[in-house]
Amino acid sequence: MTDATMIEAVGLTRRFGGFTAVKDVSARFERGKITSVIGPNGAGKSTFFNMLSGSLKPSNGRILFEGQDITGLAQHRFAPLGIAKSFQITSVFPQLSVLENVRLASQALVSRYDFWTPRARLEGLREIALGLLSEVGLEARADGVAGTLAHGEQRALEVTMALASRPRLLLLDEPTAGMSPEETVAMMALIRKLASERTIILVEHKMKLVMGVSDAIVVLHHGELIAAGTPDEIRGNEQVKRVYLGERQH
Ligand code: ADP
Ligand code: MG
Repeated sequence: MTDATMIEAVGLTRRFGGFTAVKDVSARFERGKITSVIGPNGAGKSTFFNMLSGSLKPSNGRILFEGQDITGLAQHRFAPLGIAKSFQITSVFPQLSVLENVRLASQALVSRYDFWTPRARLEGLREIALGLLSEVGLEARADGVAGTLAHGEQRALEVTMALASRPRLLLLDEPTAGMSPEETVAMMALIRKLASERTIILVEHKMKLVMGVSDAIVVLHHGELIAAGTPDEIRGNEQVKRVYLGERQH
C-alpha cells in the first residue's frame, strides 16, 4: 500500500452457499479521488460495496483502510474511522422534516461535545444540519416533510445523512437509480462537488455516466475484476467492451 491509497481490497471473496458473488478481487482506492466500480447487473458490485462498507463479512480476503486491517470489523465502528455509505431510503423518517432527519443523523457526531448545554447542543445540531443541507443544495427544503420530497431530493437527503458523520471516505451504491435524466445530472454534479473534500467510491451500472466524473474505474464481471484503470483505459479495453456489448447501452 502506498500513501496515496486510502482503502484497499486484497483477494476479497464472498460466497453465498455454493455461489461465489465476488471472487478474489484486489483493488486500491486512492485518497482524494473518485473511483467507480462498474459492471453489468449481477457482476457483484453491491456485494463488493457491502464488504467495503462493513455491512457484509468477506468469506476470504482482507480490507485495509489507511493501512489498518478492518476486515470483519463491526458495522458501527466504520463511522468513527471516517467511512460512510449512502443511507438507504428506509433510514429516512418520511413523516419528519428534512432538517429533523439530518439532525438525527448528526447526533452521534455532536454527542462528543458534552460541554454544550442542551439548548446550545440543539442549536449546534441545527447549524450542522443546515450546513450539510446547503452543501447538497437542499437548504430550501429543510422544513419540508421528508416523505414529500421528489425522488431525486430523497436520494440527496440520503447522501446528506451519510455526510453527517463527517466521513473522509464516502461510498455510494447506484445513487442515481430510478432518477430522471435531470435528477441524474444534478446528482452527478453533487458527487463531483463532494469529491473536492472527500474520497469517493461510486458503484454504478451505467458506464457512460461515470466516465466524465471518475479518476479511476474498476470493472467487475461475474464477480471477478476484469479491468482497472483511467476512464480512457477502460473505454479502450476490449474485454470491457465485450462485457457491455450485450447490454442495451446506457
Ligand atoms: P450487482 O450489484 O453487480 O448487480 P450483486 O452484488 O447484487 O450484483 O449480486 C451478485 C450476485 O450475487 C448475483 O448473482 C446475486 O444474485 C448474488 N447475490 C447477491 N446477494 C446475495 C445473497 N444475499 N444471497 C444469495 N445470492 C446473492
Ligand atoms: Mg447492485
